[in-house]
Amino acid sequence: MKIGFIGVGHMGGPMCRNIIKKSGFDVTVFDLNKEAVAACVEVGGKAAATMADAISGMDVIMTSLPMPKDVEAVALGPGGIAEHARSGAIYADLSTNSPTVIRRVADALSDKGVTTIDAPVSGGVIGAEKGTIAIMVGGDKGAYDTCMPIFESFGQNVSYLGGLGSGCIAKIVNNMIAFCNMAAGAEGLMLGAVAGIDPEALNEVIRNSSGNSMGYRGVAHKSLNGDWSATFTVDLAYKDMHLALELADELSVPLSLSPQVHNLMRMARGLGYGGDDATAMMRVYENALGREVRKKS
Ligand code: NAD
Repeated sequence: MKIGFIGVGHMGGPMCRNIIKKSGFDVTVFDLNKEAVAACVEVGGKAAATMADAISGMDVIMTSLPMPKDVEAVALGPGGIAEHARSGAIYADLSTNSPTVIRRVADALSDKGVTTIDAPVSGGVIGAEKGTIAIMVGGDKGAYDTCMPIFESFGQNVSYLGGLGSGCIAKIVNNMIAFCNMAAGAEGLMLGAVAGIDPEALNEVIRNSSGNSMGYRGVAHKSLNGDWSATFTVDLAYKDMHLALELADELSVPLSLSPQVHNLMRMARGLGYGGDDATAMMRVYENALGREVRKKS
């Protein structure tokens, strides 16, 4: 199989390198960032000179791109998939995307004989490097089956969820839950610290009690180390939460916690932390109280 992979950043990079190393398929790589492409060429990928070179003649085209507008640009814009994919090709979007956008893209691409599936992933950069990420897939079952050997080369828990957009819905719901856990973790840790408990000791208690969760552990780790360097940014988390709110708006589903957490992310971005780790929601509380969790200033 010939694979074109577009978008090899924090997530796409390690996913693409695992496909190159483990699947044995021929992989052609494109990204606006040449260094990111070079890291994939080092392990056996081919660099595409243009985006069209990563699309023309490919059996499967995969994207891992930041925002829904980036996916639309690559899929339907100049030099993109609609213009250059061969009839019969499969397009698998691994980004965390809007179900509405991926359905619109799929409709346009079906006119060109291209079958679209959505296949967002969960497990972070470490999971992507280890090849242990979860992949949640929606869309044509035959295309899913064809892509399975590729999915198995970079992920572990591959789930087929039904019609197109189902993967995006599962991913958005998962992240919305994770971010609410993170925000609760930030509030709780700060409250405990201000109330005078040693934050390291408090963390040990929570990790062994009912407040524990992956989101909690993430915010605790970053807060206690004062390290906000990102492999998953506030900006991307804000986008994911926006997608959850948008879906709830479309379906008139009441959400109580998520809009508050979205607003917390908005404040973090307003304070200039958009490029920091998603857990930098904590920094809003740190600013409000003039102290860090780990120490009084
Ligand atoms: P990133 O910003 O690190 O990487 C995106 C890459 O896409 C960059 O290298 C950028 O140069 C490239 N790009 C952007 N527009 C392009 C275009 N028009 N043509 C070619 N390349 C283009 O982002 P990321 O963290 O890797 O996230 C990618 C997707 O995966 C997002 O949808 C994100 O929500 C999702 N995701 C991220 C994580 C994570 O932990 N980072 C986890 C799960 C899912």
